[in-house]
Amino acid sequence: MSELVKVEHLHKEFGKNVVLKDINLSVEKGEVVVIIGPSGCGKSTFLRCLNGLEGIEGGIVYVDGLPVEPESKDIYKIRQKIGMVFQYYELFPHKTVIENIILSPMKVQKRNRDDAVREAIELLDKVGLADKKDYYPRQLSGGQKQRVAIVRALIMHPDVLLFDEVTAALDPEMVHEVLQTMLELAKNGSTMIIVTHEMAFAKAVADRIVFFDQGDIVEETTDVKGFFEEPSTERAKKFLKTFAYE
Ligand code: ADP
Ligand code: MG
Repeated sequence: MSELVKVEHLHKEFGKNVVLKDINLSVEKGEVVVIIGPSGCGKSTFLRCLNGLEGIEGGIVYVDGLPVEPESKDIYKIRQKIGMVFQYYELFPHKTVIENIILSPMKVQKRNRDDAVREAIELLDKVGLADKKDYYPRQLSGGQKQRVAIVRALIMHPDVLLFDEVTAALDPEMVHEVLQTMLELAKNGSTMIIVTHEMAFAKAVADRIVFFDQGDIVEETTDVKGFFEEPSTERAKKFLKTFAYE
């Protein structure tokens, strides 16, 4: 096994607000790590630190052995190793689905158009959207837009995929199709770090659960089933109880 992401003693603050305290975490190739925890505990900030979208005040993050430093000239190389999908799909409204998808591979990776289009259609087909390739984002549902956003990340062939509450803004009936796409990716061996509030999905997809609270990793386990039945810490118990009606 090899470590794709390695975080050592990560410390992050916004002014006087300490948001991440001495975080240590390694993610192996092919592993699916699910991060859960209450709102405001630092999950999004943590993901943003992994690809250098946020500077950090202490510690170090490695991706594929390279240190992630926002000021470094290698940062663009490192960001290509990391695909990120956010809660709010940021597709360009004036570009079609296919144009949205091929933009980065052509611009950043200098791939030729035919090659990028061919792969984009292949990937769209996999997520059930090949027939939507010439649509504009406004003609798609939220779930469809989120699947396009996933394809846009995949076409860059990242080593690791980060997902930040990608279904949180979707209508309930759209959630399933997006989670299904992520489950397929997991099954096919993608390395993924997923922040979600969908506990049934977390249980189904995770190789490892990481429970964050107040900028700390409070609990971390590969016994995913055991965690959801009976977490070790009081804080995790209390957190899971808030989902008890599910
Ligand atoms: P989560 O994703 O777990 O809900 P966040 O990482 O978004 O948590 O936020 C963690 C903390 O950091 C919160 O207290 C939030 O207000 C603060 N925070 C996040 N982004 C910024 C920012 N750009 N500037 C200042 N404070 C921020
Ligand atoms: Mg967040």
